[in-house]
Amino acid sequence: MIDIGSNLTSESFNTDLPAVIHRAKQQGVSVIIATGTSAQSSIDAQQLAAQYPRYLYSTAGVHPHEADHYDHQAEQALVELLKGSGRAQIVAVGETGLDYNRKFSSQENQIRAFEAQIQLAKDVDLPLFLHERDAFNDFYGIIKEQFNSISSKAVVHCFTGSQEALKAYLDMGLYIGITGWISDKKRGKNLRDIIRYAPLDRLMIETDAPYLIPQQKGVKQLLQQHRRNEPCTLRFTAEKLAECLAIEPQTLIDATSRTSREFFNLDQVASEPCFEEKAS
Ligand SMILES: [Zn+2]
Repeated sequence: MIDIGSNLTSESFNTDLPAVIHRAKQQGVSVIIATGTSAQSSIDAQQLAAQYPRYLYSTAGVHPHEADHYDHQAEQALVELLKGSGRAQIVAVGETGLDYNRKFSSQENQIRAFEAQIQLAKDVDLPLFLHERDAFNDFYGIIKEQFNSISSKAVVHCFTGSQEALKAYLDMGLYIGITGWISDKKRGKNLRDIIRYAPLDRLMIETDAPYLIPQQKGVKQLLQQHRRNEPCTLRFTAEKLAECLAIEPQTLIDATSRTSREFFNLDQVASEPCFEEKAS
């Protein structure tokens, strides 16, 4: 089971990350991708990933909430990370995109940072890890114009949109990330109703920890802090998604793991340290 998005550099994991990773392993999580949300957190996520080879990977990008801080310096930090030693751990550019729900950064800066990071992903030939909330029209327009689905791949993480948005993303060749949102009694209803329209081989799963605790029986017992989600709850989202698709959980887990390995090129990345080991 692969958690394609977990905010492990969040300060809520500062004191007990080894225990968090241990619990994830115990619950069958085989790989976690730590999300970079700012220049600094991208550096932190990469350093973290380097400590857990073949178990943790990371992304490098500036979240739309942080887009007001996407300046030349931030971009240079990302470029250095992506073209330097971090390349062994970093498997995607992002998260980037648009969030008009809370507008922590101006709309104008969000668009600017988003377009710059799409270009960056093309330059370094990595997939995009995307975030879109209440910004479908602008987001779709930019992707459609800038994104060449033949040469690049992208996943819309934590998808919570409409059926129309789902269809539009799938038609463009994008992948869809599903979080614990799907088990939220009220907010997740629409997602539960529409997700069966997505082909199984375009879906991936994630916790978005420390956010979005799955609203299912048994989750609370796994969590050490009641208001913090952890990668160890991933199977609950796998089970809920499988239920919506009317398939066995194991079928869902096998398919999403295969898709995630291919999408993020994990086997190839993972094989690099083996080669070095042999060489030394
Ligand atoms: Zn996000």
